[in-house]
Amino acid sequence: MNDLAEHILGRGARKVMLQMPEGLKSRAAAIAGMLEKEGIETLISAEACYGACDLRDHEAKAAGCDLLVHIGHSKFYVDSATEVPVLYYPYHVPYRFDGIDFSPIPEKRIGLVTTIQHLPLLKDVKQLLEKQGREAVVGGQILGCWFVNAEKIEEKVDAFLFVGSGKFHPLGMETKKPVYTYDLETHELEKIDLVTAKKRKYAMIYMCKDAKTFGVIVSSKTGQHELQGRAEKIVSYLKEKDKRAFIIVMDEITDNKLLALRLDAYVNTACPRLMDDHFTKPLINAEDVPKIFDEDFIDFEGAMNRERIEAEKEI
Ligand code: SF4
Repeated sequence: MNDLAEHILGRGARKVMLQMPEGLKSRAAAIAGMLEKEGIETLISAEACYGACDLRDHEAKAAGCDLLVHIGHSKFYVDSATEVPVLYYPYHVPYRFDGIDFSPIPEKRIGLVTTIQHLPLLKDVKQLLEKQGREAVVGGQILGCWFVNAEKIEEKVDAFLFVGSGKFHPLGMETKKPVYTYDLETHELEKIDLVTAKKRKYAMIYMCKDAKTFGVIVSSKTGQHELQGRAEKIVSYLKEKDKRAFIIVMDEITDNKLLALRLDAYVNTACPRLMDDHFTKPLINAEDVPKIFDEDFIDFEGAMNRERIEAEKEI
């Protein structure tokens, strides 16, 4: 954190807006105070910040800032045109491993993945696993919507271990290998239930079959623009299938906002992990739209059972 002011001044910025995820917000005032001492006028964004896709560059520009300082996430894999330049500044959370018992993981070769804040910890976890007779392969960082580093090592491992907080990231992994998490806050090691997540997704698709009106959600978040390209095509596709469809533009996507629109179902072109949240109306991701009209999906129980059997065979 000591070199943050240097990075900002090196970019010629004098007034900045700080943006960071919830877990780091308690540090915001201290960071702002430190920057102010270096002569950098500093504003703090208190808005939710879900990822590097969630940039508050419009607000930064409106407030007269010449740089948005985004702490705690690495640059999103999609390049976005932003209203002001963005400085991505990593924040590594220190952690002391006091011996973890990995015996609940029966698999031999373990692939390690985490989020950017905990990347340096993977070498410690690798050593711990090796001391307990396992082979550990470091995959690296994953996002809730980007798993390339896990996919790269999938063939070399029997299971994955996600080291970090919560299940948001590992629940998005599309793998038939078992996935475990070691939660750095609760210190719990557990196996992730990917099958239930899949069943829930199928249930949502199935419910869309009866929907007559659809909202196709487009995010106004700068970094999610790339994810939005399909919205108009989806609307046309749904209309061809005799459905009524509308593009819905939103920043924070909540159940209450969707309920107010009184549409039957929603298609999400924003963060693909949105569907893990609770919504009263069916909400599916863009790539699943054709499945609404897929005759195989009429055999709902059968489709779910086939998936379960496939998944269980691997576990
Ligand atoms: S999972 Fe969602 S919030 Fe996280 S980087 Fe991807 S689009 Fe953004």
